[in-house]
Amino acid sequence: MHNDVRHARGSVVLDYKQPIETGSIPDDGTDFDVIVVGGGPGGSAAAAYNAMNGCKVLLIEKDVWPRDKVCGDAVGGKSLSHAKELGVLQLVDESPHYVVDSIIFGSANGSEVRVMLPKEAYEAKGLQSGYALPRQQFDWLMFYRGQQIVRENGGFVLQGFSVLEVTHETSEDGPKITGVRVKSGGLRGEGDELAYTARVTIGAGGYNCPVARTMVSDIFEEPFRDDEHFCGGYREYWEGVDGFEGDEGPIEIHFIDEVLPGYFWLFPVRDGLVNVGIGMLISEQRKQKGRKKSLKKIQDWVIKEHPRFKQRFTKAKMLEGSAKGWQLPFGSPRRNPSSFQPRRSAMAGAMTVGDAASLVDPFSGEGIGNALLTAKMTSAHFDRIAHSQGFPETAADEYMRELWGTLGKELSNSTKLQRMMKWKKLTNWFVKRASKKPEIGEMMSEMIASKEAQKKLWSPWFLFKTIVLP
Ligand SMILES: Cc1cc2nc3c(=O)[nH]c(=O)nc-3n(C[C@H](O)[C@H](O)[C@H](O)COP(=O)(O)OP(=O)(O)OC[C@H]3O[C@@H](n4cnc5c(N)ncnc54)[C@H](O)[C@@H]3O)c2cc1C
Repeated sequence: MHNDVRHARGSVVLDYKQPIETGSIPDDGTDFDVIVVGGGPGGSAAAAYNAMNGCKVLLIEKDVWPRDKVCGDAVGGKSLSHAKELGVLQLVDESPHYVVDSIIFGSANGSEVRVMLPKEAYEAKGLQSGYALPRQQFDWLMFYRGQQIVRENGGFVLQGFSVLEVTHETSEDGPKITGVRVKSGGLRGEGDELAYTARVTIGAGGYNCPVARTMVSDIFEEPFRDDEHFCGGYREYWEGVDGFEGDEGPIEIHFIDEVLPGYFWLFPVRDGLVNVGIGMLISEQRKQKGRKKSLKKIQDWVIKEHPRFKQRFTKAKMLEGSAKGWQLPFGSPRRNPSSFQPRRSAMAGAMTVGDAASLVDPFSGEGIGNALLTAKMTSAHFDRIAHSQGFPETAADEYMRELWGTLGKELSNSTKLQRMMKWKKLTNWFVKRASKKPEIGEMMSEMIASKEAQKKLWSPWFLFKTIVLP
């Protein structure tokens, strides 16, 4: 079967609406260096990075491409640098997408500030502003490239196979994950069951990843899911929303009354298509009453009744079948962690990445970047030769220490921002000040593009000087 190609404007482009050919199914009992569970961005990247290190990889995805994924569809600078390294950025550039040049923040009392993400200046600093494109398309391109790299390096790729069980054993050295049992045609299907083993199994199965669940809940009996750190997200695609023209411009985040302590977003993704959604921490959602208990109902109301938004939707039409919800596992630090922050993400024979390791940024809701970053990190911690007898607990601990050492500060800062934005008066005041003082806009744009700059935000003198002084 040809995935390849569609000819447009004289060039050759991949068609992300077609199936992806992934080759033959490995024999039952085959042994690998690395098994990757989940073919989202984290799994596709982990499989590719480890295959590029010379590992024999098995990449397993339960869905069959093309497939949808509920998301806001914003792909930030951190994600784009990995996409570039894996040869995906070029594929994205060749397919329809929206270039995010700025972010509009709106507060409950109607103040708005547009924070520019100046592309050239960012590129000069080695940073990039963001893109927005449907995840059906981005994930297709990531998986397409991931399976290509895996197969070129002697590995195998399965689509339409669900991981039923993560196999493990306990010896005098302690517990160890040894591989997976999979089934074709979904969990309840009549399909074939096969088993595979590997030195290391990488969990990239999203917020309910079977590798993460087996490791955290079953083996270590540590807390896996926590409403204080999980966010509900709801998304619809709309056409004809007023205020968005062309394929470059702002995305919008609104901290409006009816949605607080969550937020309402409008992210154009391409060709006049806009991703419209709402996110709210599940612990906060549980406290709401009436309409506010359901994200779908809140969004319905905002679109039909909200004085600032209803005009923008008068000529708009929702894409049928696009109304879907999903969960975001935040990387906010846990109060009394049982082991590692934000949650255990490795053990002998296993590592987890992205949502499976609970790494979504608690302020922006971005998770693709950290999924790709940790995917690459796994390839630096697993060594095919040194770990030919197995991926030991000591290596697992090193992975977890590097993970939190790299991401701990920015995830902790984002948690503070997230908590701050739920206070209406503070948000109103902050957005109003930002709209009047260009330095605050600049500070916010630095913060979004460079998490390093977030450190400044928590310096009391910097805050006083920038925000409070006239
Ligand atoms: C409403 C919403 C809005 C969001 N907005 C943004 C945004 O704008 N920008 C951003 O960066 N992030 C956003 N996120 C977060 C982002 O979607 C995730 O952080 C990101 O998808 C994580 O990638 P991942 O590869 O770790 O997991 P996933 O993308 O969830 O991929 C997991 C894969 O594993 C597969 N799988 C699951 N179980 C099994 C199994 N048993 N066997 C085999 N395969 C399995 C799944 O089918 C899936 O393909 C949003 C999330 C939501 C819910």
